[in-house]
Parts: sequence; structure tokens; C-alpha cells
Amino acid sequence: MSRSSQETISLFDQYVIPNYGRYPISLVRGEGSHVFDAEGNEYLDLFPGWGCNILGYSPERVIQAVQEQVAKLIHVPNTWYMEPQGEFAEAICTRGFGKAFFCNSGAEAVEGAIKLARLHTPKDRYKIITFENGFHGRTYGAVTATAQPKYHDGIGPMMAGFTYAPHNDLEAVRQLVDKETAAILIEPVQGEGGVNTPADGFLQGLREICDENEMVLVFDEVQTGMGRTGEWFAYQTFGVQPDIMTMAKGIAAGVACGAIIAKDEVAPSLRPGMHASTFGGNPIAMVAGKATVETIEAENLLENCQKLSARFEEFFTNLKNEIPIIEEVRVCGAMIGVDLNITATPAVKKAMDRGLLLNATHDTVIRLLPALNVTDADISQGCDIIADVLKEMADEVGAD
Ligand SMILES: *Cc1c(COP(=O)(O)O)cnc(C)c1O
Repeated sequence: MSRSSQETISLFDQYVIPNYGRYPISLVRGEGSHVFDAEGNEYLDLFPGWGCNILGYSPERVIQAVQEQVAKLIHVPNTWYMEPQGEFAEAICTRGFGKAFFCNSGAEAVEGAIKLARLHTPKDRYKIITFENGFHGRTYGAVTATAQPKYHDGIGPMMAGFTYAPHNDLEAVRQLVDKETAAILIEPVQGEGGVNTPADGFLQGLREICDENEMVLVFDEVQTGMGRTGEWFAYQTFGVQPDIMTMAKGIAAGVACGAIIAKDEVAPSLRPGMHASTFGGNPIAMVAGKATVETIEAENLLENCQKLSARFEEFFTNLKNEIPIIEEVRVCGAMIGVDLNITATPAVKKAMDRGLLLNATHDTVIRLLPALNVTDADISQGCDIIADVLKEMADEVGAD
């Protein structure tokens, strides 16, 4: 006996705090890049799970690994050793660097990274530089790091010690550095802020500023990590090594999991007693993470990501010549941002009416975070619908 979308919505109206704007649809199951609602309607999803479902819906290895683990041990506290945590740490550190700490979400990973950056630098250093239009999560440290006034409105005072620089402006960063600055925290590609890629030499310049001033460089790879950019991590795509890196979203293919990795010489500063997470590194998330890495490798999904990236880039660049409401196309791996010169939100509803799920962010940007295993047929179908939707929107504003 399952409920209709409307019946589920009634439960929410009565019992769930209304802090999210939700589409009036209850999702019940999915397969590949397709998801179904309670009425049996099918949607093609080019934004599955806000980027968490990096292998699409119902990834086989992950399902099997979780099913086997859940029958053995659901939870093991971090006062014991457990094989799955050691193995997932090995899987990400050998593809990245250093040593891992596990938690349950992106914001939590950012909180841990802030603590580690302050702990690793001398006691009088506590300031952290972050970037306008960045996004780091909703807990107090993470939301303070998020330099967007709309997320601070009414919840102050914010955490002390954060200063904000315009994105891609090295000179502004240099101006903000002083004897009390401990770290620079940045998303290698800003996701929520509209798929903003770094200018040539920008991340390298941040690395140099950190080296010259004995500061640590922290990359927030919550959205860009785990194959999203066509390499395991975006720092590899851009060839700039951070000291600390955060991950979450797709790292366990949609099972709640966050992580920090830190260089070997930085990691011990998160000393015993200074930081912890009860559920962090639990065996279910860990086997899901390991199965995610194995799937990406077995199915050549890094390579596939580079191919799908080229396909989307070509499609949208061509479309830009046809449709005057497209201002700019920004693509990095399977992160696609189509910046319009009008508000992008109506595109979401219009696409949904045609059976396609996508996202609008930062007012004017259509954002896609497709699964790394999205098929060619799905890409074609999705692109056709988006072209249709954008033509309709262009007609509505009378652009030509
Ligand atoms: C989504 C996101 C976060 C926050 O992750 P939560 O799991 O929602 O706490 C932090 N940083 C970046 C770059 C993100 O995209």
C-alpha cells in the first residue's frame, strides 16, 4: 500500500517543518538516470540527488555491498577498528593523498577542515579567507564560510574570523592576508554559485600565497570530488595540490557520507580528543563508498565523464549561437552551467512538464550534474528537451 503524491504531501503539511521548497511530486524508485513518482510517471534526471547519485539510481555494486554489510553490522563506534573504514580510506587516499577522517555530510566535512586548519597553524592564526558566491553548507562554521549574504540573513552573529574575496581575484586575496590568516578555503569549481570555473592560474596563485605565508590551502570538493570533473578529484584536473580537502555528496553514491583528507604532515594536527563523529565512518557508508570507487573504475566512468563533458559543451555552445537568452556556457566534467540573461527558474518547471529534471541556481543558471554513467540516448533526449524549453523561454521574452 503506497501513498499517492498528494497523500504524502498531506503528511508533510502536517508534520514536516516547511524549510524546503519542494516540487509537488513524491519519488518512489529509480533506475539509471530515470526516476519514477508515486503515480508511475517517469522522469529523466540530469541532476540526480543534487549530485549525490553520481552513479545514477540503483547502482548494483553499491546496493549489494550495503545489503551484505547491513546484515553483518549496522554500526561500529570509532573506539574499535573496522575493515570497511580502513578499506575506503585506502581507496580514496591512494587515488588522492594523505589520510582520511570520516563524517556524514558536506557541512560536517567543512567544519572539520576549519578546525584542522586552525589547529595545524600557530595559535595566533585563525582567519580564513573564502570567496563570494561560494557554498560550503549550513552549519555555523560552514555557512559563515559561505560568502552569500542571503544565507546569513537573520541568523547572526556569524562565526568570527572569516573574510571574503571576490572569486578569481588574486590581488584581493593578497590584500586580505595578514599575520593572523590561517587558511584559504575554496571550491575548485563553485557549484551552487553557478558552476564558476577558476581563471587560468588562479588556484596556482592561491597555492603560492599559502606557501609564502605559511597558510594551508583547503579545497572544498564536496561537489567536485569522486570523478565529477573527469579525474578522481578536481585538484587533479587543475594540477594544484591542496593541504586539506573535503568530500561528501557523491562519494558513497548517495549514502550519507562525508570525508576530509589531509596531507600526512597535516593530518596528525587533528589530535585525539579534538574532533569526532559518532556515525562518521560507519560500515554501511564505508562499503557504499568503496563500491562507488570500484564501479567508477570497472565501468571507466572517469573516461566517460570526459566524453559526456565534451558532448554537453558542444551541444550548449552550438545552442548559444541559436538562442539569444544563453549568456555563457560553463562546463567542467559532469558539471554543466548554462547562464541565461533572464531568470532560469521557469526552465525547471517547463522541463519537468516534459519529463526532465534539472536545477536552476544563482538566479540565472541552469545546472546539470548528470550521473557519470548517463547514456548517450539519455543525453540526446535531455538536450532536445532543454533546447525546446529554452526556445520557448526566448520566445516568451520576445528575444530574437
Ligand atoms: C552541498 C555542498 C556542501 C554542503 O553539503 P551538505 O551535505 O549539504 O552539508 C558543502 N560544500 C559544497 C561545495 C557543496 O556543494
